[in-house]
This record gives sequence, structure tokens and C-alpha cells, in this order.
Amino acid sequence: MAVPKRKTSPSKRNMRRSHHALAVPSFQECSNCGELKRPHNLCAACGHYNGREILSTEA
Ligand SMILES: [Zn+2]
Repeated sequence: MAVPKRKTSPSKRNMRRSHHALAVPSFQECSNCGELKRPHNLCAACGHYNGREILSTEA
């Protein structure tokens, strides 16, 4: 089995982990109702996307 020759130094270990942080999810205001929504996603509050109603919110 292949085994590393040297122990990974704290510096190299921390450089590897520099990309491990979780990104904060982004939000935009819905152009129809002003509720916060994820970009490129249907608005959960009013069901609109790209100026059109996709899902009707009333029962
Ligand atoms: Zn909306």
C-alpha cells in the first residue's frame, strides 16, 4: 500500500483547509412581492419567476 513519506506539516494542512469554509447562501428580493428568495429560483412566497406566475399561491 502506498504510504506518505512525510507527515503533512501544520502549514500544508492549513493551506489545504483554506478552501473548506462554507459559503453564505445569497438572497435577492423578489421583483414581484419583495420577499427574499434565492437567485435563479422560484419565489416561495408568491410563486413568480422572471415576471411570470409559475405556481398559484391561493388554494
Ligand atoms: Zn415573490
